[in-house]
Amino acid sequence: MATVAVLGGGIAGLTAAYHLERAGVDVEVLERRHTPGGMIQSSNSGGYLVEHGPSTIRESTPTLERMIDELGLRESVVEASDKANKRFIVRDGKPVPLPSSPASFLTTRAFSIPGKIRLLMELLVEQQSNGEEESVAAFVRRRFGREALEFGADPMVAGIFSGNPDNLSVAHAFPTLPEMENNYGSVIKALLAGKGATKRKPRYRIFNFQNGMQQLISALVEQVGDVRLDTRVVGITREDRRWTVEVEEGFERTPDRLRVDGVISTLPLHKHRELSSTPLDAAPALRSVSHPPLLVIALGYPRRNVDHKLDGFGMLVPRVESGVKILGTIFTSTLFPNRAPEDHVLLTSMVGGARRPALTQQSLHEARDVVERDLRKLLGVRGEPMLMHYTSWTRGIPQYNVGYGAVKRALEQVEQTNPGFTLAGNYRQGISVPDTMQSGRLAAERLLAQL
Ligand SMILES: Cc1cc2nc3c(=O)[nH]c(=O)nc-3n(C[C@H](O)[C@H](O)[C@H](O)COP(=O)(O)OP(=O)(O)OC[C@H]3O[C@@H](n4cnc5c(N)ncnc54)[C@H](O)[C@@H]3O)c2cc1C
Repeated sequence: MATVAVLGGGIAGLTAAYHLERAGVDVEVLERRHTPGGMIQSSNSGGYLVEHGPSTIRESTPTLERMIDELGLRESVVEASDKANKRFIVRDGKPVPLPSSPASFLTTRAFSIPGKIRLLMELLVEQQSNGEEESVAAFVRRRFGREALEFGADPMVAGIFSGNPDNLSVAHAFPTLPEMENNYGSVIKALLAGKGATKRKPRYRIFNFQNGMQQLISALVEQVGDVRLDTRVVGITREDRRWTVEVEEGFERTPDRLRVDGVISTLPLHKHRELSSTPLDAAPALRSVSHPPLLVIALGYPRRNVDHKLDGFGMLVPRVESGVKILGTIFTSTLFPNRAPEDHVLLTSMVGGARRPALTQQSLHEARDVVERDLRKLLGVRGEPMLMHYTSWTRGIPQYNVGYGAVKRALEQVEQTNPGFTLAGNYRQGISVPDTMQSGRLAAERLLAQL
């Protein structure tokens, strides 16, 4: 039986291992931390269910849907409340609903009248495709105008990538936008034609699980079985057509060596820089990928201590709203049931990212002050929180910046020149949980074809 080491026990690694296992391969997952899941971690505290990383899955893929059934999770899926259709952005220091229909577009205060006219003129803007990678900011400014960038794309990019629209590549970070331009001559026309982001209607729009995102991880770990925790990979080398993975276990500093037929690495790109040897050494382009730091601060309050109705998914903060420091807040207890005790609310805020990385260097106390001050101003929050949970991602989401095409080509090149070695993770075909799972499945399939 072929033996494979899967490096990293996040969602990419566990998904890859799951597919290998089902194909009859002897798989071992090697995970540095004491708990599997990587960025996916949930915890319970005082009746609050807190997500440390992702808190929603959007637009499920066929791979994910099949796995939900195979893992017996169908009954545990919790769909987001209808209120999640409403989203706020901060304008002039206040949360303002974004339009959710043509009628609300006319009345929304999120955009000025000249801003709205310019936005609609997108229908008339000529198509441009000179083959060069364009930033998200350049694309949105060119097609929709400055206001759509400042109060639409910029906060959205902060919410999804914790990134900067001036740097992110539209073709790699939001590929459906240039696709819509190319196929329809206009994004609005494409949306009106109903051929937007996805061609098939997803079964669920936005969802999570009864016990939080961690439930997906627990179900996967149960199926995969062989997940070695507290095991740090320190080197990967190829010898005599097989692979050697060097690991350090627990506090042991004497490396152990595993000999396997194949390796799937799902280690974050920046982690490869710490290894003594890795096939990625030959690809310097991969060093350029940045991972801005991010804090996730969850605060729980009695409902009566928050003035705002919290009738939406949450609020995002445009960079031009310089008086507000957080990137945004998810109204977690509105989104899903059982996230807070009765008559309490849970608010999950993001701080830092590419916009304000220095804020992540503060003490816990200072970071909490930043969030509380902004929530007081924006949502009318009063008094001491009943719950405070703080997660620091010192290296967060990989940025698909302009030039990412070279990164993707380098990744393919590494695989081509290293038979029996494949790569998966949130740096391959999308940062979302479903996209990352897809990358895990595809890496398993590429490896299976070689074993
Ligand atoms: C705050 C936050 C919010 C997010 N929100 C959403 C959301 O709402 N919806 C959504 O779809 N996506 C969201 N994402 C993105 C999504 O969660 C991630 O892109 C995805 O979970 C990454 O999975 P991965 O397996 O590629 O990487 P990781 O989860 O980072 O897994 C890599 C694993 O490798 C391990 N590792 C590292 N070094 C070593 C080593 N030397 N040896 C062994 N193991 C090692 C790590 O410990 C980790 O477990 C969010 C991300 C963050 C940070």
